[in-house]
Amino acid sequence: MFILENISQLETAIAKALKIRPRVQFVNFGRYQVSGSKGYYTVVCRKDESGQKVVACGCKGAEKGLVCYHAVSALSLHIGLAKQRQTATI
Ligand SMILES: [Zn+2]
Repeated sequence: MFILENISQLETAIAKALKIRPRVQFVNFGRYQVSGSKGYYTVVCRKDESGQKVVACGCKGAEKGLVCYHAVSALSLHIGLAKQRQTATI
């Protein structure tokens, strides 16, 4: 699990995601299934009580607090959906 503060912390994982191009399946808003080396991992994107963006993935790397490519793959979909939602409410 990690807290999303700026895009630069994601750069390495984005490069990996672009190379591997995992499949991202939408479960519901904020919850996604991303394909990895050992099947699908669940990635959860949410805002905590203090408004920080928290991203959690079920893989080993994320357990250690690393930004994994599953998380950034899910995030790219999540951010797109969040923007759509914002424009929908205007
Ligand atoms: Zn992961």
